Amino acid sequence: VSGKVYIVGAGPGDPRLLTIRGLECLRLADVVVYDRLVDGAVLDQAPRAARRIFAGKEPEHHPLAQEAIHELLAEEAARGRTVVRLKGGDPFVFGRGGEEAEFLAARGIDFEIVPGVSSAIAVPGAAGIPLTHRRVSRAFAVVAGHTCSPDPEPDYPSLLRGAGTLVVLMGVRSLPRIVARLLEGGIDPATPAAVVENGTRPDQRTLVTTLAGLVAAAHDARAPAVIVVGEVVRLRERIRPLAAELAAIDAPSGG
Ligand code: SAH
Repeated sequence: VSGKVYIVGAGPGDPRLLTIRGLECLRLADVVVYDRLVDGAVLDQAPRAARRIFAGKEPEHHPLAQEAIHELLAEEAARGRTVVRLKGGDPFVFGRGGEEAEFLAARGIDFEIVPGVSSAIAVPGAAGIPLTHRRVSRAFAVVAGHTCSPDPEPDYPSLLRGAGTLVVLMGVRSLPRIVARLLEGGIDPATPAAVVENGTRPDQRTLVTTLAGLVAAAHDARAPAVIVVGEVVRLRERIRPLAAELAAIDAPSGG
């Protein structure tokens, strides 16, 4: 009997944002291969006896090379095990989940994709920034500010002009360069911009500024953070009070 690999998105941070299907898969797991941004409370949903294997994925530090991850998933499934490949957010948004699925498909190994709530959308949302809004922005572009891939750098000014809202993941370290490209490309320095750190977690922090002020405002920002540039950022002023009230209602009482 051959096993199966579930490529599961763990959601953006708060463990309660894992999907029901993701939870079902975790509860069946013999082996969980997880990435750095996965919350411990999500990992705890796997059976106690399940093997937990950390696959890393920090910008310059990979405990397991991508090829080794592919082989590990394939081997465990071939041994009949139920394998959960657990990734932050959605597995197909900058998570190399596509490469893993391609590899498993080529090997003829059974797998399922379990989508997750991506930080690209959920983190601005949790901070009170809608990515689209009538009369403000009818599209958004999501880009990676840093990758280890040899692909050419995205054309940030064109993406922002075309979409109206630009969302940058993995952008903290490259922020000065990204801002310089946008300004060189003729984007108005007064365009609203925000950095949301640790989105959906208890230590979520939001900085709201303009494109011109973004580098200074974010000088002590730490990954993981999502950067949003565009007029939608202004909506936070009106949306945030309600979001704060809801959070208060939701907070466990008595401690
Ligand atoms: N597949 C993931 C993204 C992986 S790339 C997803 O769909 O969410 C990792 C980047 O995601 C981080 O560098 C950061 O930009 C963003 N990110 C993930 N979790 C985050 C969080 N809780 N708060 C802010 N940004 C987060």
